[in-house]
Amino acid sequence: MSSDQYIFEDPSKKYADIDTTAQYQKGPGLDADLNETADRGENSYRGTGRLEGRKALVTGGDSGIGAAVAIAYAREGADVAISYLPEEEEDARKIVALIEKAGRTAVALPGDLTDAAFCRETITKAVEGLGGLDILVNNAGKQQHVEDLSELSDEQFDETFKTNVYAMFWLTKAALAHLKPGSTIINTTSIQAYSPSENLVDYASTKATINAFTKALGQQLAPKGIRVNAVAPGPIWTPLQTAGGQPTEELPEFGEQTPLGRAGQPAELAPAYVFLASGESSYVIGETLNVNGGMPTP
Ligand code: NAD
Ligand code: MG
Repeated sequence: MSSDQYIFEDPSKKYADIDTTAQYQKGPGLDADLNETADRGENSYRGTGRLEGRKALVTGGDSGIGAAVAIAYAREGADVAISYLPEEEEDARKIVALIEKAGRTAVALPGDLTDAAFCRETITKAVEGLGGLDILVNNAGKQQHVEDLSELSDEQFDETFKTNVYAMFWLTKAALAHLKPGSTIINTTSIQAYSPSENLVDYASTKATINAFTKALGQQLAPKGIRVNAVAPGPIWTPLQTAGGQPTEELPEFGEQTPLGRAGQPAELAPAYVFLASGESSYVIGETLNVNGGMPTP
């Protein structure tokens, strides 16, 4: 493993030997049960003060990409609140400990974001716990593969949209009452927004929606000094994929279709979220930063 994210090395060889064994996890899945363990930057992310004094809420900050973002933000000097589902407490505790180890305030916000009232409460509690808010990362997401539309239940269609789209809307709307000029909103979209898989009809549709939401709102909020951007990951090794995101038998080949020929690790996403949250990206608005191992996007 690299010593930190600034090392120059061959990206096709970095993590090339990770074994994405066929496996299945029920519910949202845990990083704790992921085989082989993902890299969220615990042992490698080096902060350089790029988010000193900022206050961030990262939804889905217990595991995967959100956990890598939470670790990076804390090491860059931000206080961080993470939201997650109650059954993910085990994962969340580890991230809270890492935020605190970085010398920052951590706020843990368990609960179900498919509920509008809970989304509003999450913002209120994040603001109270952090003493303000200036970075909102809408990252929580639901992905369940279904091979035939006739098997895609109304309940799943509704839950996927509630988790990926409605929660983003409810959280963003509530956060705007607190965000001052200089604040940033970052939404996690996906390569699926442009290259939808045939078995991810509901999920891919939500991600295209997130891209449009980001570009529309980015224009609306720019005059207020609030920037909205998105990050579009490619195939990243997280519990989302082992908890029904992909057919289990396809996991051993996960990520091999990318030009780099391997799955990405959550730690490789964090610098994109740091860039979009920091003042370095002051002229970047409505943009989708693709972090996908080289898959072409429009
Ligand atoms: P992950 O499972 O580690 O994170 C997703 C998180 O969403 C969970 O930890 C959970 O806390 C949260 N969540 C789900 N339903 C929720 C609900 N109802 N209420 C509250 N929280 C809820 O997986 P990840 O891959 O890191 O996913 C993070 C984001 O990245 C998601 O938006 C996902 O769509 C996106 N993404 C992932 C990949 C990939 O290959 N892993 C690719 C593109 C986009
Ligand atoms: Mg999780």
